Amino acid sequence: MYTIVVLGSRGVGKSALITQYAENRFEEEYNPTIEDNFRKTDEIDGKSCLLDILDTGSQEEYKSLREGGLSRGQGFVLVFSLTQESSLTELVETRDRVLQARPGGEVPMVLVGNKCDLVSEREVSKGRGEGLSAKFNCSYLETSAMLGTDVHEVFRGLVRQIMKMTPGSHDYDPKRESRDQARGSRMCVLL
Ligand code: GDP
Ligand code: MG
Repeated sequence: MYTIVVLGSRGVGKSALITQYAENRFEEEYNPTIEDNFRKTDEIDGKSCLLDILDTGSQEEYKSLREGGLSRGQGFVLVFSLTQESSLTELVETRDRVLQARPGGEVPMVLVGNKCDLVSEREVSKGRGEGLSAKFNCSYLETSAMLGTDVHEVFRGLVRQIMKMTPGSHDYDPKRESRDQARGSRMCVLL
């Protein structure tokens, strides 16, 4: 199972992205979330993967997440709205919190600019989003939870990152097992 945490300011479309991915529908009404869990099975690179997705509420409520969700998460989706510049800048602090909760090592992460369908309301350029993702050292996607644009790619890309970082821990691969043995990696683990 892959545990994914979705973070970002209120109203940027976190719940809408998850609903579109997990249930293929768009929720037009705005229901402020406190915390919610979604399970979805997806086929990624020919493998059946179970995703456990944690939807979060507003920044203030993260505090309760810090010990629980943030440290349990294997991958993080950082969402802002392309129509709201402040939601982008707020992610700087959000990312810091993630890194504090997950010290040491790389943390699989993707930066998402949502609501790309609202072309005339756009406040954040693609270059700006790309620039921040370069600083964050993660990938960047522009999505529309309403139209479904690139929504699957967000979650699939993140699962691929997690797979790369922790190869072999999610399923049993006899070929990899024998390769590792040949390299003596078993010994390293024991030492
Ligand atoms: P959250 O607080 O981050 O979970 O935000 P929601 O998912 O509840 O979305 C907030 C509002 O933005 C809702 O009214 C959604 O219908 C709307 N919304 C979310 N994603 C999109 C999108 O991609 N395009 C448009 N046009 N509206 C969106
Ligand atoms: Mg929500």
